[in-house]
Amino acid sequence: MSAAPPPSPVEISRSGESDVRIRWSDGKASVFPARFLRLACRCAHCVDEMTGRRVLQESSVPQDVRPLAIAPVGRYAIEIQWSDGHRTGIYTWDLLYRLAGQLPGF
Ligand SMILES: [Zn+2]
Repeated sequence: MSAAPPPSPVEISRSGESDVRIRWSDGKASVFPARFLRLACRCAHCVDEMTGRRVLQESSVPQDVRPLAIAPVGRYAIEIQWSDGHRTGIYTWDLLYRLAGQLPGF
């Protein structure tokens, strides 16, 4: 196994009105559609902590949801304030990189 550190963002920015763009330390880049990222929230309001099952209803998230603010959390994550009022979601680098793997062309 490689002992290389896991990829971390070297730049986090907005892409257009709503999407979130991340450039990674391994040279890759990803553009997360806002709603995709919102639905991937792992906080206790969105995911059952006991079962790991998503309790967030997809239909409850507006199609045009977008981040109002993106704030760093330590050196390992970002916290996103969403236009639907949700603001408890923390996205770790590990989670974001795994989500990036679900995007086409990553
Ligand atoms: Zn959440």
